[in-house]
Amino acid sequence: MYFYSTNKKTVDVTLEEAVIKGLASDNGLFMPEKIYSLPAKFYREINSLTFPEMAFEVAKTLLQDSIPEDVLKKIIDDAINFDAPLVSLDASRSVLELFHGPTAAFKDFGARFMARMAAYFIQNYDKKVNVLVATSGDTGSAVANGFLNMPNTRVIILYPKGKVSYIQEQQLTTLGNNIIALEVNGVFDDCQAMVKQAFRDPDLNNKMILTSANSINIARLIPQMFYYFHAYAQLKDKSKPVVFSVPCGNFGNLTAGLMAQKMGLPVAMFVAATNVNDIVPEYLKSGIFQCKPSQSTISNSMDVGNPSNFVRMLDLYNNDLDTMRKHITGYSFTDDQTKKAMKEINTKYNYIMDPHGAIAYLGLEAYLKENKITNVNGIILETAHPSKFIDVVESTIRKQVKIPDRLEEYMSKKNMSKPMTNTFEDFKKFLFSLD
Ligand SMILES: *Cc1c(COP(=O)(O)O)cnc(C)c1O
Repeated sequence: MYFYSTNKKTVDVTLEEAVIKGLASDNGLFMPEKIYSLPAKFYREINSLTFPEMAFEVAKTLLQDSIPEDVLKKIIDDAINFDAPLVSLDASRSVLELFHGPTAAFKDFGARFMARMAAYFIQNYDKKVNVLVATSGDTGSAVANGFLNMPNTRVIILYPKGKVSYIQEQQLTTLGNNIIALEVNGVFDDCQAMVKQAFRDPDLNNKMILTSANSINIARLIPQMFYYFHAYAQLKDKSKPVVFSVPCGNFGNLTAGLMAQKMGLPVAMFVAATNVNDIVPEYLKSGIFQCKPSQSTISNSMDVGNPSNFVRMLDLYNNDLDTMRKHITGYSFTDDQTKKAMKEINTKYNYIMDPHGAIAYLGLEAYLKENKITNVNGIILETAHPSKFIDVVESTIRKQVKIPDRLEEYMSKKNMSKPMTNTFEDFKKFLFSLD
C-alpha cells in the first residue's frame, strides 16, 4: 500500500516515509492510495471483539501490507490501552468519552499510536528524529506524553503564550527529558506557520530529520478511526440512523470519521461543529473556503483559522461539494451558546461536559431540530475531560469538577518552557543550536 499527496505533484511513498515526513514535499497531505471496505464478517462480529482487537482489524484492512501484522498488533495493544466508553444521555443521545488516556484528551489516541509507529520505523536510523508540533493545547501534551523517553527522538512543541489553560501548559512544559516546549509570543496560527516553514526549509532539512506530529500526520489519523467503530459497536439499537457530532478545529477527527465511513461504517450524517472559527461550516453553506485569522474562544483547542485537514476532506470527495453536503452538515457556535449548553447538559442530564464537547452537543441539537429528527443514535464526541478547562467549567455550571489523579500530578511540577518570538528566523536559529 502506497500513500499519495493530496497535491498530487510527487511520487507515492511508503507508510514509513509518510509517517516520518509528515507532510509531502509538494506540501500536500498523505492519503492511502485506496481505502478498502471491511468485510461483512467484521460487522457481524463487531460486538464480540475487544477495542484493541477491533482496532487491529480496522488498521490491518486500511494499511494492508504496509507494516508486518505482528508489529501492528503490538503497536495497537500498547497504544490503545484505555477505553472509549459510550455513555447514554437519553434514547437518542450518547456521549463517546475520548478522554480516558494519559493526558485526558482524545489526542492521546493519535499521539500514542504515532509515537509507537514512528519508533518502529526509526529504530535503525543513525540520526535523531525531531518531532515538531504546533499546539493550541491538547496536541502538545498528548504528543509529548506519547514520545516521552522514546529512543532516538526529540519533541519540540510550539504553543501560543497565554492562550492555553494552566493544566495544558503544565502538561506541555514539565516533562523534560527528550521534550522541549517553546512558549511563542503569538497565536496558534503563528506556531503552525513556523512548523510548516521548517519542513520547507532546505538548510534545516539538510542538517536534521524533521517530522510532524500535527494532525497532518497520517499516523495520527488512523487510530482516530478506531473509536468510531467502537462507538458503533456499543450502540444498543443499531437499526436507528447513526449521527456523529464532532467538535472540529483542524478537522483531523472528522476526517478519520469520514474514512471510517468509507470503510463501510454505516453513518447517516456527520455534524461538523465549530466555535466562531467557522471556516468549514461556512464552506459547506457557501462553497467558498475563506481562511481567517483564528479567534480566541473558551474551546481553545479548536481556535483554528486555516484547518489543515480540509484538503483531505476535499480529496475524499474529489472536490464534489454536493456529495460532501450529503455526508457532512456544519454549524458554528459562540462562547455564550457554549456556556448555555454546558449548563443545559448539566441540569438536564446531570453530565459535566467540557466546552469542546458542548459544541458537539449544540451541533447535534441543531441538526436534529433543523431536520425534525427524533429517533436516532446521536453520538457526541467528548474530546477532553472537563477538568482540563476547569475555570470555565466550574464558573459556568457552579459545581466543582474533580481533577483525575493523572492530571493532578502535573500541577506542582516545574515549567521548563523557553521563550520564542513568532518569527521563523528565530525558530530556525534555535533548531540549529540543538545538538
Ligand atoms: C484538538 C481538539 C479538537 C479538534 O480536533 P481536530 O481533529 O483538530 O478537529 C477538539 N477538542 C479538543 C479537546 C481538542 O484537543
